[in-house]
Amino acid sequence: MKKTVIIILCLFTFMLPPQASAQRKIPILIYHSIDEFHGHGSKELYVTPDNFKKQMLYLRDHNFTLLTFDRWQDIHKVNKPIFITFDDGYKNNLNAFAIFQQLKNEQFTPMGTIFVISDFIGRSNRLSKEDLKKLADSKIISIQSHAATHPDLTKSNQLEYELKESKEKIQNITGKPVIALSYPYGSADDNVINEAKKYYLFGLTTTPEPFYEKGIKDELYLLPRIYVKYSTTLNEFAQIVENVATKTR
Ligand SMILES: [Zn+2]
Repeated sequence: MKKTVIIILCLFTFMLPPQASAQRKIPILIYHSIDEFHGHGSKELYVTPDNFKKQMLYLRDHNFTLLTFDRWQDIHKVNKPIFITFDDGYKNNLNAFAIFQQLKNEQFTPMGTIFVISDFIGRSNRLSKEDLKKLADSKIISIQSHAATHPDLTKSNQLEYELKESKEKIQNITGKPVIALSYPYGSADDNVINEAKKYYLFGLTTTPEPFYEKGIKDELYLLPRIYVKYSTTLNEFAQIVENVATKTR
């Protein structure tokens, strides 16, 4: 009788839902503009500074560890790892930087990654070379590549320029390694990934799910990211980062 109970208990252990034993899922969030929306462009690509601050406070209050891609190996070492990313290199990302500085304390070190379009650096609504240097020097923000001209890379006939030149240009400005590429429009195919592998360790898409190790080919070049939008409520944000999201788009 006892034996039967033990066998049944063992069977139950194997039948537990996979998340009970599987490794954690890691959210990689994608933002664009951190600013009030004044009617230019797509509203959903904005998050107001007030909402962004509340979201980061949520992460601080719930013991998340914000990481950048040079610390990828720490995903297995730290408590509740999460990546905060910003695409397109807008000038208003300085608002995010200011909020990170405000929220920094002994227990919480905010960090994020800005993916800049290297040929757009210094345009009127984009970060300047001086901005990028200041951000990189702060060690709060890592500056990485979003290609040189923001094309759909799967249709580009100048991949070397888009990937290699943008990496070198950004490195020359910041003096720090560029190791991650955010594909414009989240778009990559085998050819783009093979070219990306020559210069980068990570490639980021916009597949809306958290990252977890599947052991598939090229998984570090197919990193998924979840949008945080103008309309995302704090409750929805909490669901996204705690990996119970049903609504990620
Ligand atoms: Zn973009």
